[in-house]
Amino acid sequence: MDEKDMIKNIIESMKMDLYVEARISEMHVCALCGRIGYKELPMKKIGEKWICIDCLRELKEALDSLEEWEQEIALQKEFRKDIGKSFNQ
Ligand SMILES: [Zn+2]
Repeated sequence: MDEKDMIKNIIESMKMDLYVEARISEMHVCALCGRIGYKELPMKKIGEKWICIDCLRELKEALDSLEEWEQEIALQKEFRKDIGKSFNQ
C-alpha cells in the first residue's frame, strides 16, 4: 500500500464517520410514544421534543375536537353550578 492509497483510505473512513454521524443525528425518539423515528417514521421537533407523525396525527385530532370538548366542559360546569344552587336553596 503506497501513501496515496493510505490517504485515500483515511478519507474514506472519515467519510464513513460523517455518514454515520449524519444518520444518527437524523434519528430521534418520540417524546410521546418512545418509538425511534427515522425516514419511515417522520418526526417533527416541537419545542425541545421530537414527536412522530402518528402522535402528531392523534394530537391534531384532539385539537380538532378541542372546541367540542371545551363546550362539553363548559356545560358540565354549568350543570354543576345548577346542582350546587339547588342544594343551597
Ligand atoms: Zn410517537
